[in-house]
Amino acid sequence: MFLAAAALFQTAAQALPPTRLETLQLTTLAQAYGPEKFGLSFELYPPKTERGMTALFRHLDRLVEFQPSYVTCTYGADGSTRDRTLDVVSGVRQKYAVPVATHLTCVGRSAAQLKEYLERAKSLDIQNVVALRGDPPQGEAEFRTVEGGFSHANELVQFIRREFADLGIAVAGYPETHQAAPSPDVDLENLKRKVDAGADVVITQLFYNNQDFFDFSRRCRQAGIRVPIVPGLLPVTNLAQIQRIASLCGAKLPAQFQADLQKYADDDQGQFEVGVEFSIRQTAELVEAGVAGIHYFVLNKSEAARRVLQANLSSPSLSPAMDC
Ligand SMILES: Cc1cc2nc3c(=O)[nH]c(=O)nc-3n(C[C@H](O)[C@H](O)[C@H](O)COP(=O)(O)OP(=O)(O)OC[C@H]3O[C@@H](n4cnc5c(N)ncnc54)[C@H](O)[C@@H]3O)c2cc1C
Repeated sequence: MFLAAAALFQTAAQALPPTRLETLQLTTLAQAYGPEKFGLSFELYPPKTERGMTALFRHLDRLVEFQPSYVTCTYGADGSTRDRTLDVVSGVRQKYAVPVATHLTCVGRSAAQLKEYLERAKSLDIQNVVALRGDPPQGEAEFRTVEGGFSHANELVQFIRREFADLGIAVAGYPETHQAAPSPDVDLENLKRKVDAGADVVITQLFYNNQDFFDFSRRCRQAGIRVPIVPGLLPVTNLAQIQRIASLCGAKLPAQFQADLQKYADDDQGQFEVGVEFSIRQTAELVEAGVAGIHYFVLNKSEAARRVLQANLSSPSLSPAMDC
């Protein structure tokens, strides 16, 4: 039952042995979504140590059983993780023959330096980029544009489209509005700039109230954004951690959910169970609404995502994508 349902998560790389990498059809993010397809993706971050890297691949061994459409890896705000980001995505590409995307920010880099990074990425068979402006470095309140660099993600998207026409591009969207945006409408106009510049897909910031996502999707469509809008979900496994992450990115945690987690303040396993149950329901509702796919921020672990996916794969509500 599990494997049969998993077939709904289609990837171009499925069934190809990793050793045949050179013969793989390059797959871009855009191809992950569409009729009869469900774009499942996982987001990783670059571990700091060799031990962390080994553990990450142990978890990935379990996650790739779900046949993700692609896997991405974040890029440290100041670019300090550049090499490790590439190590992770090229390692995933080589080991599992799964399409991959490197995240990339404009922070502290000129266009020439960004181009050099993307050339390296391409030489490592990385076909996709999650193109971001990035946050100001720690200790700085405002984003500073470096000489010869970019001020906003739409400029980076335009640059990538011009210099690397065949790369797939995802951009960030904010169901609860970006923290620095003057208004939801202005933020939406800015998202449209990124899509008009050539982005294939919008992946959203994490959120815990699906209605925020549904409203955001509807507003995107009304604004003429036609590319897939993919919800980004972080299954909560720990109350303190999610409070920290949510306050950093401005995501609201529903009061009842917080209260349910709080009941297990001294019980890590209890918090994990509450978080996983919430994510199972959140996923089910999104799938039922016909989202094009889901992007899971897995924080380099597999247990929570596995539980969430297994629960939903065995649910009759899992259906091919509609236009959400
Ligand atoms: C899925 C996802 C993945 C992420 N991965 C990373 C990562 O790997 N590394 C990392 O450091 N950060 C990452 N982030 C965080 C991201 O860098 C921050 O949210 C950052 O503050 C904004 O980046 P952006 O690409 O959305 O910027 P932009 O789209 O440039 O938007 C930033 C702000 O400027 C406004 N704006 C945009 N364009 C214009 C314009 N042309 N003129 C005027 N105003 C404009 C927007 O409304 C917004 O308020 C990620 C976020 C998401 C949702």
